[in-house]
Amino acid sequence: VSKEQGRDSWRRFSTDLTAQARKRLDIVNGLRQAIEREELHLVFQPILATQSGRIQGAEALLRWQSPDGPVSPAVFIPIAEQSGAILPIGRWVFEQACATQARLHQRNDGQSPYLSVNLSTVQLNDERIVRDFAAIIEQTGADPNGLVLELTETSLFADVEKNLRVLRALADLGLRVAVDDFGTGYSSLLQLLRLPVSMIKIDREFIDGIDKHADARLIVSAIIKMGKALNKGLIAEGVENDAQLFELQALRCQWVQGFHLYRPMPEQALCEALTHERGAEAAEAKLYYVVY
Ligand code: C2E
Ligand code: MG
Ligand code: MG
Ligand code: MG
Repeated sequence: VSKEQGRDSWRRFSTDLTAQARKRLDIVNGLRQAIEREELHLVFQPILATQSGRIQGAEALLRWQSPDGPVSPAVFIPIAEQSGAILPIGRWVFEQACATQARLHQRNDGQSPYLSVNLSTVQLNDERIVRDFAAIIEQTGADPNGLVLELTETSLFADVEKNLRVLRALADLGLRVAVDDFGTGYSSLLQLLRLPVSMIKIDREFIDGIDKHADARLIVSAIIKMGKALNKGLIAEGVENDAQLFELQALRCQWVQGFHLYRPMPEQALCEALTHERGAEAAEAKLYYVVY
């Protein structure tokens, strides 16, 4: 490699780094104003009972329409966690989800699905969360029993001792907790027993292979058996086709979520899906896909 070439590739490398750092800085700055500029909104992805095919819940997922176009939460959430912006944003998400839950509850004579909200570990480490959430539940008139907090396996089990107190306080408000992306970390059964967790969401990675690879099926089967023995609700994430759904039914996984069933949608569309489902005919139609 000549000296010139070396210099060239270094220049390219540092230019890339600068562009990356600038992009990151743009996101940090943009996020700071995203709430007041009304660039954030929630979409909801239904969670269905595997046997009846009916909508039992929905996961609230954050969307950011920045002035430069939509940015994926997979990109901006980690940056928001590092910059601290996740605290006001996470509070906003919970507030919106509570307001939606209260509206759904009114519209559906108390037969509304539960709503789950993703919670960052940064929020869990902020002591004010319990007081804040209690106030939001009160203000919005949401039913805390119809709300679930999703925490990833890695964040939940990073410091069980520290999380335990906050989680118990949140559980005392009536909120339930789900372990998100289960199977990707290395949590022990003992840890799972110690935390007030009611649901387990099996990571998409395993569901993805369940119809093709014997070992993926084995792992999912083991998680389902273990979860049931511990009296936890089980949700399979990322169901993308009929074959996967069939396997999950055979394994008696209670709940399913994925593009094959519904994509994340605005609140209005969720309302319509719920209304539609109430017609017996529509329920039959959905059952056709879900029950074999
Ligand atoms: P997650 O909580 O595991 O959410 C599930 C993600 O999988 C969502 O991506 C959803 O759109 C996607 N998904 C659902 N079904 C399928 C499927 O069948 N196939 C595939 N390929 N994907 C599917 P999304 O909305 O892009 O969110 C990505 C992640 O960003 C979430 O993963 C969550 O960790 C985080 N996130 C989203 N909203 C929030 C929020 O309000 N607060 C926090 N702290 N994190 C959030
Ligand atoms: Mg989630
Ligand atoms: Mg997940
Ligand atoms: Mg995930």
